[in-house]
Amino acid sequence: MYLTNLAVVTIENDVLVLFRETNCNNFMKSRRDFLLKIGGSALTLPLVSALTPAEAAVLPETSPVADKQLRVVLVGLGSYAERVATAMKDCKIAKLVGGVTGTPEKVGKWSDKFGLDKANFYDYKDFEKIKDNPNIDAVYITLPNSMHHEYTLRAAKMGKHVICEKPMSVSVKQAQEMIAACKKANVKLYIGYRLHFEPYTRELIRMRESGELGKIMHVNTYDGFKSGNPNQWRLKKALAGGGALMDVGIYCINGARYATGEEPIWVSAEEAKTDPVKFKEVDETVTWQMGFPSGVIASCSTTYNFNNFERLYVIGEKGFVELGPAFGYGPMKGRTHKGEMSWDTTKMHQTWQMDGMADCILNGKPEPNISGEEGLKDMKVIEAIYKSIAAGGKKVPV
Ligand code: NAD
Repeated sequence: MYLTNLAVVTIENDVLVLFRETNCNNFMKSRRDFLLKIGGSALTLPLVSALTPAEAAVLPETSPVADKQLRVVLVGLGSYAERVATAMKDCKIAKLVGGVTGTPEKVGKWSDKFGLDKANFYDYKDFEKIKDNPNIDAVYITLPNSMHHEYTLRAAKMGKHVICEKPMSVSVKQAQEMIAACKKANVKLYIGYRLHFEPYTRELIRMRESGELGKIMHVNTYDGFKSGNPNQWRLKKALAGGGALMDVGIYCINGARYATGEEPIWVSAEEAKTDPVKFKEVDETVTWQMGFPSGVIASCSTTYNFNNFERLYVIGEKGFVELGPAFGYGPMKGRTHKGEMSWDTTKMHQTWQMDGMADCILNGKPEPNISGEEGLKDMKVIEAIYKSIAAGGKKVPV
């Protein structure tokens, strides 16, 4: 646990107030961010460890809390929605209130399991009725990738905030339309980039931004898994838009962007297809390089055909951070030039994420890089990678 950036600054109203000197990305705009208030009677260091700096930097409990909550319905009650719903049981600022499903039996099951009012459940064809429900502030789209665009546009038209899973769309054009629709409707569009609220990732970003790593020289990211059922939507181009790259390779792209703090200007990519039957419609294993304006090259890879493949390694002139696991649900692990990293892994990523997003929307907390525009940047890289594969691995501008 790193305490080097903490300094006890003052005691206010019997409360010990800790500040940290930081310029940690746009999520923490002010240089001296209020971190932690603890009882003045307990002015001992162990109390600091009750809340790590990364926790304090992201924990919504540290902001002026909310007599209001962001009331959310999940659209598409599949496996990821179930994970989000479970995580949201521990949320304080976000609240799950209902769902949208085409399977009527799920209404009773979900309302019992998560304590939700059946009045807040809808069928896909009734989706527009959400507009007239004053107890719903936001929809969280957890449908197959190719459906994100349609449901974002429909939600924006109703004037509800949109949280949309990654990849935000299956094309750059769709992503641009989603951003425009939410802007026009004056609603937020966030992409489910949960890691931007997760302590290990936040610490990596903080170290890079503070200059602790020095000039970034190289990034290496990979992420993948062996996909199971050959009939699942993830292997169908019409629903998934693409294969491993769209699904988990996007973490490598996003990761290389937050590890460098730069936007790639070119890519070159190749696909290895060892099972052309199963991966007839979508990519199986993709390896690519991304070039950044500083001259740094990120070397990245993703797969749908083997396990134990997950790492983010960023090397600077003065230090390094290596996370592995780096992108999945964890528990995250990592080391830096200073030693092993040790941050809170007890909370589900989606609990951090949903309270964090609600805090941004309701309390104006500065947003980490979770906007539709951030999703669009990843989509542009994905399209360039597919272009490069089609062109036999040629360098393609982003
Ligand atoms: P899933 O198959 O478990 O769930 C999809 C849901 O959509 C199901 O409830 C299904 O009934 C419904 N659906 C509606 N119309 C459908 C159609 N025409 N075909 C298939 N399903 C249809 O998938 P999932 O794993 O929950 O993934 C959903 C989304 O969440 C994807 O965009 C995926 O990329 C994203 N996801 C994100 C993370 C993350 O960590 N951020 C993790 C897993 C999945």
